Amino acid sequence: MAAKVHITTFGCQMNKLDSELVAGELLGDGFELAGLADAADVVVFNTCSVRQHAENRVLTCLGRLAKQKAQRPGLVAALVGCMAQRQGAELLLQFPALDIVCGPGELHRLSGLIKKVRAGASQQLAVTERLRARREVPAGLEELDVSRRTAKGSCKAQAYVRVMRGCDKFCSYCVVPSVRGREISRPLEHVVDEVRRLVEAGCIEITLLGQTVNSYCYSGDSREVSFAELLRKVGAIAALERLRFVTSYPIGFSEDIFRAMAEVPAVCNYLHLPAQSGSGRILAAMNRPYTVRQYLALIEQGRAIVPDLSLAGDFIVGFPGESEQDFEETVRLVRAVGYKNCFIFKYSPRPGTAAAKRLKDDVPAEVKRRRNNELLAVQEEISRELHRAFIGQTVEVLVEGPSKSARKGRADRRHQLTGRTRGDHIVVFDASGKADELTGKLVHVKIVDTSALTLFGELVAPA
Ligand code: SF4
Repeated sequence: MAAKVHITTFGCQMNKLDSELVAGELLGDGFELAGLADAADVVVFNTCSVRQHAENRVLTCLGRLAKQKAQRPGLVAALVGCMAQRQGAELLLQFPALDIVCGPGELHRLSGLIKKVRAGASQQLAVTERLRARREVPAGLEELDVSRRTAKGSCKAQAYVRVMRGCDKFCSYCVVPSVRGREISRPLEHVVDEVRRLVEAGCIEITLLGQTVNSYCYSGDSREVSFAELLRKVGAIAALERLRFVTSYPIGFSEDIFRAMAEVPAVCNYLHLPAQSGSGRILAAMNRPYTVRQYLALIEQGRAIVPDLSLAGDFIVGFPGESEQDFEETVRLVRAVGYKNCFIFKYSPRPGTAAAKRLKDDVPAEVKRRRNNELLAVQEEISRELHRAFIGQTVEVLVEGPSKSARKGRADRRHQLTGRTRGDHIVVFDASGKADELTGKLVHVKIVDTSALTLFGELVAPA
């Protein structure tokens, strides 16, 4: 009987994509997927190191492993992803019940490692040595993306596609460059071919992924392919309705990219552009080499070219040395931009980063909490106001499935569906019994009410 594997994913879209690709590879290698960890012969934790909170959640799972293995002899446990690369052999020592530690640059070896352990081998370690020196992606790792399973009808309506790996930006608080390695762009033809196959298999919305996606630059056939050119090539694929990309970096975001957003019908009017702080002093300490003025000028340029541009931001509050005045500058920036939503985080030092080594984590926890709440409140006010302007408009929505309330089993909301507009606004509407038939489809919804997080509407017609 085939061994069953269960994968638990922590962290960002890149990890979700890695888990999906690993699952596909394991299926192709004779494993089956288990819906529940309790029913699995192999449990895989795909981990995130960006915040301590994410690592703590994984450590809690690892703490339970010894007991689980005592109850289920033969259970194999693998930890993959950023924590694996960051902590490597330490984890195997600290958690003897863990069988495999495998970094994100070695995921193509995971299936073989699992088989080895199931055949009786002892603990296995696969992390990339001298990761920052790696300038090419091993063929096996690229093959994971290239050979993803895309049989006709096998795909959901939405999919992520990686366009590059790694990051060269070295923000002082961030572990990503040390666990994901250098920026390496995938060949244009691999990306285009992968999207084409996903679309043929039924996908209508693709999100291109990169840690700094606009830095995409592939040198092939003796010329460089820019991110704007990639957007145009992918956006030209027939039957692709929506093309998104995350995450963007404020440096190197050229006018060409905005032009591609405006001119290619498939490219959505959505831009996730983290600023991280509204204070020039703090940006310098974060090693983010742009000024607030440059950031605002970029947004102004974007809005001039893509008039309905919908923006999302990321901010860190309580970075070392952040004064009340620095924080006020962040509040001013949030108000000046008018983001549709912001991801706001309290700073926590990450081991091995420049900020953790050189800067004292000197903003008290209660001050971080207060600034976090204040900024959230400002953003909520902005989101509410932006959303109110949608009342009476009819928007195109890609239906993702039952709304949160429907999933929680609320009887009065059982026909509610949720989806997103092209600008990434969340829409909830009543599907009056058509949930299955509309999921994964584009529909038109007339907005009748709004909150800070959601637009509420009535189904008008399929798009
Ligand atoms: S751009 Fe900065 S925050 Fe983003 S992944 Fe790179 S180093 Fe981390």
